[in-house]
Amino acid sequence: MSFGTAVHEAIQAYLSAYLNVSEEEANKIDIIGMFTTAFKREVTKKNIKYTPEEFNEFTEDGKAILTEFLSPANVKYHFPRDKWTLIGIEKKFILPLNGNVNLDARLDLVLQEKLSGDIRIVDLKTATNGWNAYQKEDFTKISQLLLYKAAYSKAENIPLGKIHVEFIILKRKFYDESKTNYEQTHIQVFKPAAFQDNILQVVKEFRHFVEYSFTADGLHKSDARYPKIPGKNQGNCRFCIYGKNRKCDKVAEPPIESAA
Ligand code: SF4
Repeated sequence: MSFGTAVHEAIQAYLSAYLNVSEEEANKIDIIGMFTTAFKREVTKKNIKYTPEEFNEFTEDGKAILTEFLSPANVKYHFPRDKWTLIGIEKKFILPLNGNVNLDARLDLVLQEKLSGDIRIVDLKTATNGWNAYQKEDFTKISQLLLYKAAYSKAENIPLGKIHVEFIILKRKFYDESKTNYEQTHIQVFKPAAFQDNILQVVKEFRHFVEYSFTADGLHKSDARYPKIPGKNQGNCRFCIYGKNRKCDKVAEPPIESAA
C-alpha cells in the first residue's frame, strides 16, 4: 500500500500539471524524487520493517514504472491533451446507501472527452505482476469500478452509457524473459464489461451485503452469519489476518443463501 500510495501521488501530480497547465510545466516536476520521498514517508508512518535491499528493490520498481508510464509517448497515447479535460484527481464523493451507511468513493482520475462529453473513470492499481484471466474475472475486483460508475452516474446525473471505466495496472515485475515471447511492459489496461446488466447485478449484491452486515444506524450486525469464502486456491486468504494468525482453517462454508 505504501508503494501504491507513492506511485499514485507521483502520477497524479504529473497528470494534473500536464492536463491542467502544460506538458512543459509537468516536465519540471521531479517525479522520481516525489515518489521516493512519498514512499519513505509512507513506510515510516506505517512503521514498516524492511531491509535496505527490500527498500531499494521497491524504489527501483517504482522508478521503472514511472519512467515508462510518464514517458512523453505513453502520456500522449493514454491522455492526449487535445482529447481529454481533467475533471478530478482523487475525486471523493459519498453516496448514501442505507440509513447511516454510505459508499465512500475516491476516484483516482476522472476525465471528460472534449468532443463527446463522455466521462472516463480510471483506477490505478499497482501490482507485483499483471492481472491474469482469473483476476480479470474476479467479481470483487471488478465490482469496485462498476459501483463507482453507478454512483457517479447517480451523483452527477449522467447516463450510464456516457461513463466508461478502466483499470490501469502498473506492474512491478516482468516475467522471466526466457519464458515469454512478447515484449513486456509495466502497463496493462483492462476495461471490465460495464453494461447496464452488470452494473445492476453489482449494485444489487452490494446493497444485499450492506443490508445483511450493517444496521441502518451503521453498526455491524454481530449476530449475522459470515461464511468463510477462501476462494479459488485460497486466493481471498492471501492478506487475511485470520489466516495468518491461524484463527481460520480456510475451509469454505455454505454461502448465505443456501444456508438460510
Ligand atoms: S483466512 Fe478465513 S476469514 Fe480470512 S479470507 Fe480466508 S476463509 Fe475468509
